[in-house]
Amino acid sequence: MCDDFIIISGPCSAESEEQVLQTALELKQFVNPTFFRAGIWKPRTRPGTFEGIGDEAVKWLAKVVNITGIPVITEAGSAQHVKILLENNIKNFWIGARTVANPFSVQEIADACEDKEVNVFIKNPIYPDIELWTGAIERFLNKGISEVAAIHRGFYPFRKTQLRNIPDWEIPIELARRFPNLKIITDPSHIAGNKIYIKEICQKAIDLNFCGIMVETHYRPESARSDKGQQITPKEFKEILDSLTYRNISSTNIDFKSELNNLREKIDVIDFQLIDMLEHRFKLVDEIGKLKKKHNVKILQLDRWKSMVESRLKYVCDESISREFLLKLLQMIHKESIKRQNDIFRNED
Ligand code: PEP
Ligand code: MN
Repeated sequence: MCDDFIIISGPCSAESEEQVLQTALELKQFVNPTFFRAGIWKPRTRPGTFEGIGDEAVKWLAKVVNITGIPVITEAGSAQHVKILLENNIKNFWIGARTVANPFSVQEIADACEDKEVNVFIKNPIYPDIELWTGAIERFLNKGISEVAAIHRGFYPFRKTQLRNIPDWEIPIELARRFPNLKIITDPSHIAGNKIYIKEICQKAIDLNFCGIMVETHYRPESARSDKGQQITPKEFKEILDSLTYRNISSTNIDFKSELNNLREKIDVIDFQLIDMLEHRFKLVDEIGKLKKKHNVKILQLDRWKSMVESRLKYVCDESISREFLLKLLQMIHKESIKRQNDIFRNED
């Protein structure tokens, strides 16, 4: 999936020519990123806040390319944005989380890219809907654009959480399963919302074999006009990069390989046993469903469910399985059991 580790960095928003150039020069000195980023048209939740400098800042990005030689990337939210970027020879852009949630907009941007040599990074939609993300990628692939990549930026939490956006790592992992050749990078800044969490999210992205990171940097983060709390200086970013542990995708060590194979074989056996056990369990659930139907008894028996959860959680008396996980697993099994009984109740016989 990944050849080189992609590093995209720069301010959340382009604010002034000086801010853009100074941040780019510091990044060149400390990090030398693959792409320099800066948002020009900012999709803000409420009007009346800073919505980006607009078209004028495109020239500043073009200047970054001339001065530092670093390719630049920005967010395109419409076909018009794509047109302006291409006129200024900027061929790299990302589609923001809010735009990806709207298939009309995505299609319009994809149409504007037809027959153009562009490099498009597609952020996950705000909501954890993998079909929307998949659909946006397909809209670009269907236009014959081969340089399509994805950015994992986390999902709207709907409640107060430590991180600004919930990572739900299993969603980009599922995306990687669907598109094995797609490069997926992580955006620790928008997941974190606060600079103190950026390092650990970068490390996680490396450990989970993501192809790169997009990290917001600003030469003076304290004066940033958007996403102030999550931006770091280029020097701080270099310190984070130096402190990360870079791991290999595999090892040629013979002992490692044989021990890993051995453990995986055991896991394979257990997984098939789990499937057999579940099958057996659901057969019993079906019998209970038929019995309840025959005697005209309701599906949900709250007391039984409560005592099941209690006894199963109590059964794990050490830390070998997390209670949170076990509860989720029981809820999933219970949901399926209710669904099966519901089907039995609805079936004529
Ligand atoms: C951004 O990258 O600055 C941005 C607005 O991101 P997102 O679309 O992920 O919110
Ligand atoms: Mn931002």
